[in-house]
Amino acid sequence: MALLQLKDIGKIYVSESNVAVGIRGVNLSFERGEFVAITGKSGSGKSTLLNVISGMDTYEEGELFIEGQPTSHYLQPEWEDYREKYISFIFQDYNIIDSLTVLQNVELALMHIEDVKARRARALELIDRVGLTSHTGHKGSKLSGGQKQRTVIARALAKDSPIILADEPTGNLDSHTSEEIIELLKEVSEDKLLIVVTHNFEQVEEHATRHVRIFDGAVESDTVIHAPEAHTEAQKPHTDGKNKKASKKSDRKKNLKNGLILGRTIFTAKPRLSLFLCLLMIIGTLGIFLITTLSGEAGTLFEPNYMFRHMDGRVVITTQNGEVISEEKLVQIAEKYGAKDYLRIDSLLDTGSAYFSYPHEGYDRYLFAYPIYGEDFGKPHIGTYPTKENEVLLYLPISYQDEFGKDSLLIDEIKMKDLPIRITGIRYYYDNNIVPSCLFTEEGFRTMTAIEYILNRSSTSVSLSISSDGMSREQGLYGIIPDFDIPADKIYVSDRYYKQLIASGASFTSSFHFNAVYHHFDYYYNDEPTVMHFKRTFGDDSIVIFSEDGSAVRSKDVVMKPSFGNTSSYSPDVLISDELLREIAEEVLEQSYKQASLFFENDAEAHRAAEAMRADGYIAVPSDTEYEPGAEEAIMGVISGLAIALVWFVAILFLAFFINLCSSRALGAFKGDMAIMRSMGIPVQVIRIAMYTRMMLALIPAFLCMVAVAVLIFTSPAMNEFFLYLYAWQYAAIVIGMILLTVMITRKQVRRLFGESVKKSLKGDNAQ
Ligand code: ADP
Ligand code: MG
Repeated sequence: MALLQLKDIGKIYVSESNVAVGIRGVNLSFERGEFVAITGKSGSGKSTLLNVISGMDTYEEGELFIEGQPTSHYLQPEWEDYREKYISFIFQDYNIIDSLTVLQNVELALMHIEDVKARRARALELIDRVGLTSHTGHKGSKLSGGQKQRTVIARALAKDSPIILADEPTGNLDSHTSEEIIELLKEVSEDKLLIVVTHNFEQVEEHATRHVRIFDGAVESDTVIHAPEAHTEAQKPHTDGKNKKASKKSDRKKNLKNGLILGRTIFTAKPRLSLFLCLLMIIGTLGIFLITTLSGEAGTLFEPNYMFRHMDGRVVITTQNGEVISEEKLVQIAEKYGAKDYLRIDSLLDTGSAYFSYPHEGYDRYLFAYPIYGEDFGKPHIGTYPTKENEVLLYLPISYQDEFGKDSLLIDEIKMKDLPIRITGIRYYYDNNIVPSCLFTEEGFRTMTAIEYILNRSSTSVSLSISSDGMSREQGLYGIIPDFDIPADKIYVSDRYYKQLIASGASFTSSFHFNAVYHHFDYYYNDEPTVMHFKRTFGDDSIVIFSEDGSAVRSKDVVMKPSFGNTSSYSPDVLISDELLREIAEEVLEQSYKQASLFFENDAEAHRAAEAMRADGYIAVPSDTEYEPGAEEAIMGVISGLAIALVWFVAILFLAFFINLCSSRALGAFKGDMAIMRSMGIPVQVIRIAMYTRMMLALIPAFLCMVAVAVLIFTSPAMNEFFLYLYAWQYAAIVIGMILLTVMITRKQVRRLFGESVKKSLKGDNAQ
């Protein structure tokens, strides 16, 4: 069986203007050990013949057999395999990779040697053989024509393939070197099939075993000069069918390793291109990062709507008939259902935020913080836990650090309206998604509850008629706080007003409604003096307290707004002290608040307990119970959610498009090199892995940049204010996203690169 057999092979070149015959009716058969010299005039089809044999160009007619196997049905991948297995090619026009050194060029062809050191040693040996040792580290672009060709020959020799094809290999070498090279070729191809196209037959005459003359695309003559040495028949087929499966697996491992090495090589070989790629990746990664942090707040859209402030293990209870649950009763309930803690008046948890103010650079800044109860978010970074009623521990996002201090408190007093509250400590979060919270003492919490109750619910009327609020929407916990009037014995009115009232003949009962003017409502009367001023205007003794029987008692701590128009049509405004107001609120809450919270180990426990309580007739709602949004709310939620998702998606798409566009420009510069590698028979898989490796390497600086930005955000409160802190999983998502994006782009490039024949890519774009 012949190693290589051509049967009636024909190749026609069809272009727009004309049809050229490359070769026609070629019948040739080659064996191992032959040294075939092919000669012929320029344009006779020698190169075409070699290209067909090498599998770099397709043939239209006839059949090419390799080890007896037909090849006419081969597609690109099969030709790649074919080249890898059988062909080494020495080109006429020095196809070496300019960006790689001589050593790297030769090493490319030595991928079958697994051990990297052995590979290097062999490469150096071959380089020495072609006389290029002094140029080992030189880049291809820096070599002379002769040196390039020697490199190519060294490379061709490096590949352990049964067929070596050389198209005018010595065309650019001086005669002395040419002879040396031919000798070298002969020497290393002893048991191989060596086909050399040459216009200088004398040069090879001494060594060639056969001479094929081509004329006008056809074989003119085919003469044996010397018989090849007799070891050819002893050759076994190049591949061993039995071991194919086992070797496939090790092939894959080998290819992976080679691909990684090649990827690194091509990455470092073109530093400017790689830098450009890195830059692209940095832009892409930081871009996605930016989009993610900016759309971070949109994430809250997807958070569940809990009926109550969700706290792990919290259950909200009330009774079916709306009785007030006394402290005693609550203790019993807590014990019965195994709660670890309870809170009798829990309205503050659900109604809101403590609304603090503090002076900053000449104006007032505001801080909204959720009062927390029982929850401990960890030890303060600065200071201690609160111990007094008017003290607070703040849990703040790190962006507040610049204002509130890093190692010591820069602000130690904060005001809740006019009530001064001392900050005892702060704990920071590296997360701007966390809302500020504040921790009071138990007593402080109760006080805050009362104040919050007065401030947020009373409006200006002391007739505190409280309607239902969010927490009771679904559960029928309506009217937990009833209307109430200021007890008559606690009403404070100025002397003058008292006189007016007496003159008008009005009588005071406990149901008389006054408008309470609490300190913070000062701004309604912004042309009027503050509390202190009132006090000065009236003098302490101008303030009176009405008692039940209508007698007035002077008091120091309350003032009254002096002007209130016509008493018959306006309710009088009364300014009362926060102390009193708080007292009233606490009393009212105590007497009428019909809801309470119980705290269990966790939500699972809470659910179990709630079920048991419901079975016993309570209304019990675990705090992670969601309420159904109304139709309108639901639709708005979906629309805004979709809009944000769309923006995010479009932004990412744009980035992907951008990276793809730029990197395919970079691909153009790369095409020729890839074609050379392919023509050398480097497995597609290796090139593919190399391309992925190169792109992945380009991603590394981008990820480092992101880590740097993350660290910056993590450590700099100022940055933290601009860029939302992302969670570890979000960083992971960005990394995975970028990798996926890169894989997709690389895959597209690989497809494009391998979609065309080697010859076409070798010729570059103008051949298309
Ligand atoms: P040689 O190598 O013997 O000089 P070639 O094999 O390069 O000759 O060319 C053989 C014939 O095929 C010539 O007529 C040449 O013009 C034609 N030919 C070669 N390559 C192409 C091509 N890519 N497109 C069109 N015609 C081609
Ligand atoms: Mg030619």
